[in-house]
Amino acid sequence: MNAPDLRWPALTVPPRHFIGNRFVASRDERTLPMIDPSDGTAFASIARGVAADVDAAVQAAEQARERWGALAPAERGRSLARIAAAIARHAEELAFIEARDCGKPLTQARADAAACARYFEFYAGAPDKLHGTTIPYVSGYSVLTWREPHGITGHVIPWNYPLQIFGRSVGGALAAGNVCVVKPAEDACLSLLRVAEIAAEAGLLEGAMNIVTGLGAEAGAALVEHPGVRHLSFTGSPATGASVAASAAARHCPVTLELGGKSPQIVFADADLDAALPAIVNAIVQNAGQTCSAGSRLLIERSVYERTLDALGDRFSRLVAGPALADRDCGPLIRASQLARVRDFLDDADRRGIRSVATGRIADDAPTAGFYVAPTLLRDVPIDARVACDEVFGPVLAAMPFDDEAQAIALANASDYGLVAGVWTRDGARQLRMARALQSGQVFINNYGAGGGVELPFGGVKHSGHGREKGFEALYGFTTLKTVVLRHG
Ligand code: NAD
Repeated sequence: MNAPDLRWPALTVPPRHFIGNRFVASRDERTLPMIDPSDGTAFASIARGVAADVDAAVQAAEQARERWGALAPAERGRSLARIAAAIARHAEELAFIEARDCGKPLTQARADAAACARYFEFYAGAPDKLHGTTIPYVSGYSVLTWREPHGITGHVIPWNYPLQIFGRSVGGALAAGNVCVVKPAEDACLSLLRVAEIAAEAGLLEGAMNIVTGLGAEAGAALVEHPGVRHLSFTGSPATGASVAASAAARHCPVTLELGGKSPQIVFADADLDAALPAIVNAIVQNAGQTCSAGSRLLIERSVYERTLDALGDRFSRLVAGPALADRDCGPLIRASQLARVRDFLDDADRRGIRSVATGRIADDAPTAGFYVAPTLLRDVPIDARVACDEVFGPVLAAMPFDDEAQAIALANASDYGLVAGVWTRDGARQLRMARALQSGQVFINNYGAGGGVELPFGGVKHSGHGREKGFEALYGFTTLKTVVLRHG
């Protein structure tokens, strides 16, 4: 298939931070190049923020904090609804920015832009429903609880789903009455600067949503350490998450951590394979496997092991990786070092004698300077192999057989991670036994949502993090609870 005759639209996002509803140059005016993963060329630049820029953003947020928190909840909701509608109107423009910046096939970037709008829409309905409780206490007393915003919340966003993760994190924090300072990833963040501009055009209170771009060790660390930031929401790798949590602990700042995963998909012999196979492929190929909730381990009951691998191999051999604009099954990886990392996993598997069932191919029109890897299905992967234990963050699926339910549970839980799990079986009792037994923040039964919908609480156990984002549940993390005890006799 030839790539459609599409071109990238001209980029309108300047190399500036977005502070107090306007674009602002970095204090020391340094910039960083943005690389197009599809062809390896620099196509834009961003401001390289330093501590002074973060401080300016925190000050702008501080100016907005009381006014935003004092708005009637329904009014706050209406402001978020206007932002949701504006993002939806600009969805196609945002999808093109996201596709180029992340190397995502256009169809996936379109889904991400729609999800970003949907997060703001969902949270627009929340502020006037976020209520406290009354607690029966001793005679002569009344006790009530109030949900109050933290104040200024800090949001550290990764490069794999900037629009979606920004929507869920900032949408929820604003709904709860906080004002936000965001540090997006240096590899992909242009869509977020445009979203902030769109939000300002839609009438968002000046200073309620601020973005400082730059490196994790510079702007990111400055945000995490800033004493004015009273809650942190971090999405990224377990290693960085641990250092962010340690740094936040030093100043007693609460942190929500959304980290990685090594999520199992478990196929029992009675599974509906027609439904399971496309979902299993999509769960590892979506965003070229660079999804925290990617279904990267495949556990198959031995009696259907060969049959399932044959059918999956057939699907893998037809997968094609190509440039974002060509909108194929898979785009490139985000950067050269990520490509080297994925190749290293594959070399390691090769050295251990792990065989591949099938690989897809890289399209002929994929520029050689792009960061492409062919989707790969590996079989009989030992549970202690690196490719079975560590997050590859590439389109590599590690399959292994199991003999019974107990072994399936043991293999699934034999991981440092616990983000998402998929179970494929028609047996209703087993469905619930598995859901109970799996150490995982989400369990999908006879479907695999890779994170799931906007409404569904999302987050992990073990090294996958703690705290929940998405859904109404996230609002409890974005607020603190005050207990009021009144003695009236
Ligand atoms: P990363 O941890 O290197 O970077 C994530 C963000 O943290 C970036 O914005 C980066 O600039 C920033 N950062 C880096 N060092 C920092 C520091 N010292 N202080 C403050 N901020 C710092 O991760 P990555 O490689 O960009 O993303 C991939 C990882 O993220 C994978 O492990 C993936 O599973 C995970 N992830 C998890 C989720 C989730 O919701 N659970 C979603 C997306 C990605």
